[in-house]
Amino acid sequence: MEIEKLKLLVKDSVKSQKEQLIQLSLNIHDNPELGFTEEKASAWLADYLADNGFHVERGIAGLATAFRATYGQESPRIALLAEYDALPKIGHGCGHNIIGVSAVGAAVASRFVIDQLGGSIVVMGTPGEEGLGGKIDMVKAGTFKEIDVAMLVHPNTRNVPNEEFLACSTLEVEFFGKPAHAAGQPDKGINALDAIILAFTSINSLRQHIRGDARIHGIITDGGEAPNIVPAHSAAVFLVRALDYDYLAELRDRVLNCFTGASTASGARLEYRWRDRTYAPMKNNMTLAGLFKQNLQSLGLQVEAFDPHFGLGSTDMGNVSQEVPGIHATIAIAPPEALIHTPEFAAAAASQAGHKGLLDAAKALAMTVVDILQPGTLDKIKQEFYRG
Ligand SMILES: [Zn+2]
Ligand SMILES: [Zn+2]
Repeated sequence: MEIEKLKLLVKDSVKSQKEQLIQLSLNIHDNPELGFTEEKASAWLADYLADNGFHVERGIAGLATAFRATYGQESPRIALLAEYDALPKIGHGCGHNIIGVSAVGAAVASRFVIDQLGGSIVVMGTPGEEGLGGKIDMVKAGTFKEIDVAMLVHPNTRNVPNEEFLACSTLEVEFFGKPAHAAGQPDKGINALDAIILAFTSINSLRQHIRGDARIHGIITDGGEAPNIVPAHSAAVFLVRALDYDYLAELRDRVLNCFTGASTASGARLEYRWRDRTYAPMKNNMTLAGLFKQNLQSLGLQVEAFDPHFGLGSTDMGNVSQEVPGIHATIAIAPPEALIHTPEFAAAAASQAGHKGLLDAAKALAMTVVDILQPGTLDKIKQEFYRG
């Protein structure tokens, strides 16, 4: 069957799933679950795929709320990634209900393509994106070893086929000082809070002399017990982000110097730990992004180039994109001035615009599956990936 006919077929399939997909999205939206506790959302998405003929494995990679749903037996294996975790207090303020449901809608529509052209569609249920790095565990467990291409569409305020993300490391620090009466015998104390404040000040100075696309930010998690006791213990958590691993490594050293310097100055002993889940930078495959872009445009959507001024975060999709060729695309569900991670964006994720974005994302994903399975296309995608 020719390519345009197949694309019509997958679009019709998404249209015919419309009511069920919207209901699924609203159910997940109305029942927000934090990372690694997404029992309802992962079960609903996996059930929908099982009901539509997918072979479902639940609780993979040591994560109870991760799943893999496969249709087809052969290579190439095209993965559509579903996220479904929510944020504390504001629910689906990142709109992950739309990510999860657009992936399953596209996968069900893609069955026709697999039946015609061979290959497999794999929906990866990837829990705990918000700060927990579920996909990092899945990459480490080898979940993506058999996968040829991976795609994910995130709701946002613009349609972009290749959103960029920063590598991100998390630093946990503690200072150990010596308690004393803050007025009676301050000369006998060692002030662990001062050490943290010195480190903050040093980092603020450092920030003026780093690249514009790098980020350093943190909070104090322990600043002492009472104002009349010299703080004997303090603690902070910092995130260090950069566009590539080399600059991240450099920044990690420079940030750590701020803490060791503060330790020397204050006399408080420093203990630190870099968390082992480092978010990788996003490596978008531009061949794949080009195909996705054309499909968005053919749906009548205006596509824009990635603009770092709209924000640079980090995602565990970055780690997947270092393993296999992939894209992290965005679909507009709210006006450009809307802010993600807010109650307003959570409302957008359950609005008419949100539903339209979800259906458009599912269509564009399934249409891109058609493209990937055309002769020679996957070779081009892989050539770009291995060129680096
Ligand atoms: Zn998100
Ligand atoms: Zn988020």
